[in-house]
Amino acid sequence: MKALLSRFFYNSRLIHSLRFRIFMIVLLIGIIPSAIMRFMMVRSYESRAMTQKISEVTSQAAILAAHLARTDYLTQRDDIVIDDELTQTSNLYDGRILVIDSSYRIIKDTYNKSQGKYIVSSEVISCMNGSRNMSNLDDVNNYLDVTVPITDESTGDIKGVFLVSATTDGIKSNVQLMQHRAATIQVIIALLVTLIAYALSRTLLRPFNKVIKAVDSVKEGFGAESIEVPDYTETKDIMDAFHHLLGRMHEVDDSREEFVANVSHELKTPLASMKVLADSLIQGGDSVDAETYREFLLDIASEVDRENKIINDLLSQVKVEGNEEAAPSFEMHDLSDMLQTILKTLTPIADEAGVELFFEEKTVVNAEVDEVKLSLAIMNLVENAIKYNKEDGWVRVTLDSDTAFAIITVSDSGIGIPEESLNRIYDRFYRGDKSHSQEIDGTGLGLSITRNAILMHRGAIKAASIVGEGTTFTVKIPLRAEI
Ligand code: ADP
Repeated sequence: MKALLSRFFYNSRLIHSLRFRIFMIVLLIGIIPSAIMRFMMVRSYESRAMTQKISEVTSQAAILAAHLARTDYLTQRDDIVIDDELTQTSNLYDGRILVIDSSYRIIKDTYNKSQGKYIVSSEVISCMNGSRNMSNLDDVNNYLDVTVPITDESTGDIKGVFLVSATTDGIKSNVQLMQHRAATIQVIIALLVTLIAYALSRTLLRPFNKVIKAVDSVKEGFGAESIEVPDYTETKDIMDAFHHLLGRMHEVDDSREEFVANVSHELKTPLASMKVLADSLIQGGDSVDAETYREFLLDIASEVDRENKIINDLLSQVKVEGNEEAAPSFEMHDLSDMLQTILKTLTPIADEAGVELFFEEKTVVNAEVDEVKLSLAIMNLVENAIKYNKEDGWVRVTLDSDTAFAIITVSDSGIGIPEESLNRIYDRFYRGDKSHSQEIDGTGLGLSITRNAILMHRGAIKAASIVGEGTTFTVKIPLRAEI
């Protein structure tokens, strides 16, 4: 049963809900102070009433004790007037009066029970020994004892003790009545607070329910509708974030469609030209001379090369994006060696383009990287820097590091990238300014591959560019792989 309960509490959606928490908080805030107030009020009434009672009984007892001292009641004991007075007073307090002489003998008991007996209670002893008025409260039997010394006025000697036991039933029953009333009031408060807590927990959370409904409505398929939940800043923020996410999903969806369309288009273009070339050869039949054949076949071969390049790029992209076999293998590498190898490989292309390559190693950097993938990424950057450069241009590659990252920059003196294209260059098949891309060979896949490889290293890539002056790509790669 206990296990069942605890499982219920652990699993229950209710317990973990904000609504339940708001309900409980309001409930506790409403009920605890009223309970404390009730307790304090009853307590303070009780102690005040007791103090009053004690002082009343004490002063009455003091008057009587003085009277006894004056009349020699302690030795004579036959004063009917005083007897009467004592009985009246004890009736008044619904209690008992004992008059004790200096030998601790009870010489008068208004109950007539203990007359002649001796009493040696500690209060009587200490009162006899000179302590002034004493009082003692018996909470169990609901009475209080007040002892007052009977003092000879002329000598100041203590001749006996006057003891009054008064009932505190009256106070107790008052306290009980108060307790009762306070409990009733508290139950009413509790009911009210419960109602308020329930209503508050409902209304306060309504906007969140709206958010859930709004998100639910989009679950089936994300339409373009925008849902506003303006009630709270928080719900507004959630909805903003949600719309942002929705936007991203639209983008991803669009870019997937665009990707498929682009892939088919890119793959179809070389095929279409091959088809045209082949068709014209077929139609030409025997009249086509060997020279034309050769020329057309060369064109077909170059289209095949192009097709091959696109397919290779797509494949390396898939590899970088990672499937089981292509899972990254991080190892410690000297990045300077890696960069120098890349530059060596690209030198012939750079020479051909009339571009000079520079390498600057600011510090020795060893980092845990997947060499193949990172090389591919940097290679694409340097290739682009050469391709989109000018006659007699330069490309500078630098290697540096801070405490946690290797920093590689690839700068060029090339044509630059317009501001508005900067965030699109990593898209698959995106090719910059149509006028250059016509002249400069490319598939639009290079930077997408580069970025994926860098993200796989949990790094970052950033481009800064001034059109006509050049571009700098900055790549940051963590020195230690986290996976
Ligand atoms: P590709 O080079 O095959 O066209 P990329 O993905 O490598 O494809 O580059 C995308 C586009 O970004 C290029 O078409 C080009 O317009 C632009 N770009 C990339 N690198 C540079 C650079 N260093 N200088 C100027 N433009 C660049």
